[in-house]
Amino acid sequence: MDDLVPLVDGGSAHDPGSLLRLLGRKPRLLLVDDQPLNIQALYQVFSADYQVFMSTQATQALGLCRDRQPDLLLLDVEMPGMDGYELCRELKRTPDLADIPVIFVTAHQDAEAETRGLEVGAVDFISKPFNAGVVRARVRAQLSLKLQTDLLRRLAFLDGLTGLYNRRHFDERFELEFQRGRRSGAPLSLVLADVDFFKNYNDHYGHLAGDDCLRRVATTLKDCLKRPGDLLSRFGGEEFACVLPETDLAGALAVAMAMEQAVREQQMPHEQSDASPVVTISLGVASVQPHAGLESAQLITTADEQLYRAKAQGRARACAQQL
Ligand code: GH3
Ligand code: MG
Ligand code: MG
Ligand code: MG
Repeated sequence: MDDLVPLVDGGSAHDPGSLLRLLGRKPRLLLVDDQPLNIQALYQVFSADYQVFMSTQATQALGLCRDRQPDLLLLDVEMPGMDGYELCRELKRTPDLADIPVIFVTAHQDAEAETRGLEVGAVDFISKPFNAGVVRARVRAQLSLKLQTDLLRRLAFLDGLTGLYNRRHFDERFELEFQRGRRSGAPLSLVLADVDFFKNYNDHYGHLAGDDCLRRVATTLKDCLKRPGDLLSRFGGEEFACVLPETDLAGALAVAMAMEQAVREQQMPHEQSDASPVVTISLGVASVQPHAGLESAQLITTADEQLYRAKAQGRARACAQQL
């Protein structure tokens, strides 16, 4: 999530340069038409500003969608074998490809064909012979819409203060990882971290300093994670949750202890803590081999109990339990 790009302001998304800025590369366009001449005509329109891929066949186009991840598809309707409608329907029912916008470019002029195109999931419909300026403008409009939707979707899963994933994203991913663990038989661990005496911190240093402290803790925790599958999120006010797939109890406890040490070594003064002169965290760790007779919530409950135990034992430490 470090590659977040700012939302475009107002209508500026409609100039090609801003699309380039939003993406950090040329947009990828896939042209599909059984007539090479039609493809050539569209290629002329787009080759300067877009990275263009081409196919004269629907099944091959499907493969290109998987391999090249185009940002938009310009699709002919009438093709031998799988036709454009079928290809579009297939894309829309494939989770990884469903978000690629499809615009039909077709010789059909009638409302029925257009309606059908929109019904199978296309976002727009352009008649042949086409006007280059119109096609260019429509593609650009749909692309900027798509990019902004992607961006908003990502922002909806981020915590505004720390930039970590938020609770909503945690809930979704945690459940997914639990199901995945059930299938694979691999262990799954959860670490809950909570800042010690943080109410006192706010009272003494002020709420804004408290916010800074939380940001610093967030970055510190993030730096403790090494595997791409590990997921750190802000679980609540001054609590953080870390999902560790394919990690057993010993591994998770090692991560938790490294986190405790890393936060302590930041040496953020905390005069009003009974645990230490600097900001510390307490951690609860739980690990399980997910199975059918177990709910994912039980892993959270156990980690929370262990967090409570760490608090009761004097804070600035981690406690762990196998489920
Ligand atoms: P313990 O060691 O038992 O965890 O004590 P604590 O004071 O940390 O726990 P408590 O739950 O009593 O207080 C949590 C505090 O965290 C209270 C709340 O004001 C503060 N907090 C929660 N979210 C934020 C935030 O976004 N910014 C700031 N500055 N403070 C927050
Ligand atoms: Mg055709
Ligand atoms: Mg708390
Ligand atoms: Mg606390």
